[in-house]
Formats: sequence, structure tokens, C-alpha cells
Amino acid sequence: MNEHDLVIIGGGPGGYVAAIRAAQLGLNTACIELEEKLGGTCLRVGCIPSKALLEASERFEEASKHLGDFGITTSGVSFDLSKMMLRKESIVDGLTGGVDYLLKKNKVTRYKGRGSLVAQGRVDVEAADGQRTELSAKNILIATGSSVAQLKGVQLDGDRVGTSTEALSYPEVPEHLGVSGAGYIGMEMGSVWRRLGSKVTVVEYLDRILPGMDAEIAKEALKLFKKQGFEFKLGSKVTSARADGSGAVVEIEGQESLRADRVLLSAGRTANTQGLNLDAVGVETDRRGFVRADSHYRTNVQGIYAVGDVIGGAMLAHKAEEEGVAVAETIVNGRGHVNYGAIPGVVYTHPEIATVGRTEEELSERGVDFRKGVFPFIANGRARALNATDGKVKVLADAKTDRVLGVHIIGARAGDLIAEAVAAMEFGASAEDIARTCHAHPTLSECLREAALGVDGRIRQM
Ligand SMILES: Cc1cc2nc3c(=O)[nH]c(=O)nc-3n(C[C@H](O)[C@H](O)[C@H](O)COP(=O)(O)OP(=O)(O)OC[C@H]3O[C@@H](n4cnc5c(N)ncnc54)[C@H](O)[C@@H]3O)c2cc1C
Repeated sequence: MNEHDLVIIGGGPGGYVAAIRAAQLGLNTACIELEEKLGGTCLRVGCIPSKALLEASERFEEASKHLGDFGITTSGVSFDLSKMMLRKESIVDGLTGGVDYLLKKNKVTRYKGRGSLVAQGRVDVEAADGQRTELSAKNILIATGSSVAQLKGVQLDGDRVGTSTEALSYPEVPEHLGVSGAGYIGMEMGSVWRRLGSKVTVVEYLDRILPGMDAEIAKEALKLFKKQGFEFKLGSKVTSARADGSGAVVEIEGQESLRADRVLLSAGRTANTQGLNLDAVGVETDRRGFVRADSHYRTNVQGIYAVGDVIGGAMLAHKAEEEGVAVAETIVNGRGHVNYGAIPGVVYTHPEIATVGRTEEELSERGVDFRKGVFPFIANGRARALNATDGKVKVLADAKTDRVLGVHIIGARAGDLIAEAVAAMEFGASAEDIARTCHAHPTLSECLREAALGVDGRIRQM
């Protein structure tokens, strides 16, 4: 039996980052991954391939529709879908290879196969050819991630009715794409195909898009997405979806059914716990199937930890990574910490949408007395030069202490701009701290500074 200090099941951002940190801290670490490529959902079929296609499709849209605004004349702009897909694959291959290299460099032992618990301190690895290896481990970390949640009545056929994984590789541009779920994955993948020519209809159960995000920002996003040509059916319940000939049909409660060439189901994700043998070892899950873990990522079974999507919370790669580092440090020196109040969330549409901390609704519900500063991109010189005047920055600060409680941005490069707000919140900054910090001119970051000034009614740039 191979012996390790720590055996990690899952080689995604939670698992591989934990493996590297644990190895750096001196643990004899192993990582089991059932897929050939490391990097998990994020690198293989999530963050990275989606951003590669978002970038390619955005450039196409800009070249075909918006370069004229800059005085640049183009004609005959077209795209080669198979080349776009090849570029995406080569980015994925480069990065997954990079994770492989990092594990080797840090002397993490990799096992290829499906990991499952045998007992406390023992893990089984079943390789694709059926060969089994048993590992003994002082500590075990479950980092098996998540998969698309099935929706009652939706028959995924992996072709006409599929998930984001299929939507990352459609062989041709669907004439009409139906998207079930207006969360960030639905809006990002919908954006890719809309830009490449699809009519996109998004069906959402709630009466708003981007659930969980600040409502004012989501409302602005809805307005801009509609302007781009998205069609929305909000407050609409999908009761079934199925392949139908060369297309698909979506039934919506109380409405006419929707016919589309392809349907993308993006209505939430569920924990990957099947086949892990949790019950036999007594590891508890919550009522939604996520592994229960305490604030030190300990499950109820001693020596077994869990991080990332499999424990629920924000389903984000950087959240999984933070937890991976924290659990490795906890195992080695008893201390590891993630500040969940400062985990950013980004939607990589155009414009981008980024958020950190509390939304205005959350603050109101909790009865927190807050002040708010809002600054529109149209009033920023750099935004005008970039032809990116849509959107706004909103800073929410405690009315008494001025401490920043939340920052919400819709606008160009919001995903990069939010980093300053995250750092400010990590340091417990006040809105005035941001307002008194010198920002280069002309930059989009001045929008954040002006919104921070706006908390005190002192906006200057107009
Ligand atoms: C289309 C899409 C776009 C996304 N975009 C973003 C984004 O832009 N930014 C962001 O932060 N997040 C994004 N996410 C979410 C992000 O991918 C996840 O939050 C992140 O990958 C979670 O990391 P993880 O390590 O917990 O799990 P995963 O990345 O899912 O990794 C788990 C790994 O465990 C393996 N595994 C499962 N069971 C076993 C087993 N029994 N034995 C061995 N191996 C096993 C799986 O094969 C997988 O590789 C996106 C997701 C999708 C689907």
C-alpha cells in the first residue's frame, strides 16, 4: 500500500492548489484525478475555454460592428469557427500541462483514476483499465467539484439539449439557441453564440437575471443585454426540454413552447459525490448533497477534509483555490483562513460585471445603515476613449464608520477593476481611503475613486 501524508481526490483548482501548498509545507502529497488532463472543470470545461471563446467572439463583434466608431474601415470580416475552437483547445492544453508540470515540480504524486474512500485513512484508486491501487493517508481531502444540476423534465442528450460543456464545442453556430437559466454561465455562453450570429432566448424562472448579484447592477445588465439582441423570458418555468428532430423543444409553463436549434441548460450545479463511498465511511452531506465541512474544512470524520464546489457556497475557481491553500495550512500548522466577505465574482460578458461584498438588498435586509456612491462610466475620460461608456460603479459604505461593505461594477474591464475594491476590503478600508488614494489619469480605475467620493457626495469628474 502506498503511503502519503495527504491524499487529495480531485485535480481541479481546489485540489491541485491544495496539493502544491501542502507539498511546499513538507507533506508527502498525492492527487487523484480521473480525467487525463488536470485543472478540473475550470481549466478543461469552465473558466478558461469559456473565456477563450468570449474573447474570440468579442473581437469578431468589435471588428464587424464597432471599429467604424474609431474611424477604422473594415469589410468582409468573417470567422473560422474551427480555428476558434482549436485556439481554445491549445490554451486549455497549455494550462493543463502547466498544472501537470507544477505538481511534478513540487513532487506531488499523481494517480490517474477514480478515487473513493475505503475507510478513515484509506483511499482506493481505480484506473481506467480497472486496475486498483490502495493508498494509506494520514489526511484525505475531497475536492471532487460539481456538475450541472439536472432540471426535472429536461432530457440532456449531449447534443441538441446539453450543458455548458457542449456549448463550448458546438460544431456550428446554432440559428436559435435556447438558454435555460440567466446566471453567469448562461449569460456568458449566450454572449459567445449571440456574437457569432445566433438568436439567443434566455428563459429564467426568477423575474430577474444574475440571481444573487446587486439588483441595480443586474437591472442595468438586463437593459444592455436586451440592447445587444438577447431575448428574455423572465418569471418563466421550464417544465421540459427535449431533442426534436434536428432541433429541440422547450416547454414553458403557461406559455407557447420554444423551438430552438440547441438548448443550453445552465440552471445551477450539484456536488460530485457519487461513487466516493461517503456513506460507508460516514461522511455527512447536507440536504442538497454538498459535503458538510466546518470552518476548518473538516468533515465529521476525523482526518477527512473537503473544499471547493463540493462543499457548496460560491461556485468559483478562486474560492476553491483559497480554500485549498487554507486547508493545507490548517493540516500542517493548524491555521488557515478564507475571508468570504472579500471573494469577488465576475461575469465576463460585455460589459463585464463584477461584485464583492454585500449587495444593497442584503444591507437593507440586515438593517445596516449605509451610504452609497455611484459613478457612471460615461463620465470617465478613458471610458470615452475606449468607446466603452456603458455601466457604472457603485460603492456601499457603512453610514457611521465609512467602512466599505460592497462594491458592484458593470462596465468595461470590471473584472480587473474589482481587484482594487477586494484589496481595499481585505484591509478594512473606508470609502474615504479609496477616495484619497491617487489614481492614474485617465484610467477606468478613476470610476471607482469617484464612486468612493460619491459616498460622501463629492463626485468631481463629469
Ligand atoms: C462554463 C463554466 C464557466 C466557468 N467560469 C468560471 C469563471 O470564469 N471563474 C470562476 O471563478 N469560476 C468559473 N467556473 C466555476 C469553476 O470552474 C469551479 O468553481 C471550479 O472549477 C471548482 O473547482 P473545484 O476544484 O472545486 O472542482 P472542479 O474544478 O470541478 O474539479 C474537480 C475535479 O475532480 C475530479 N473528480 C471528481 N470525482 C473524482 C473522483 N472520484 N476521483 C478522481 N477525480 C475526481 C473531476 O474530474 C475534476 O477534475 C465556471 C464553470 C463553468 C462550468
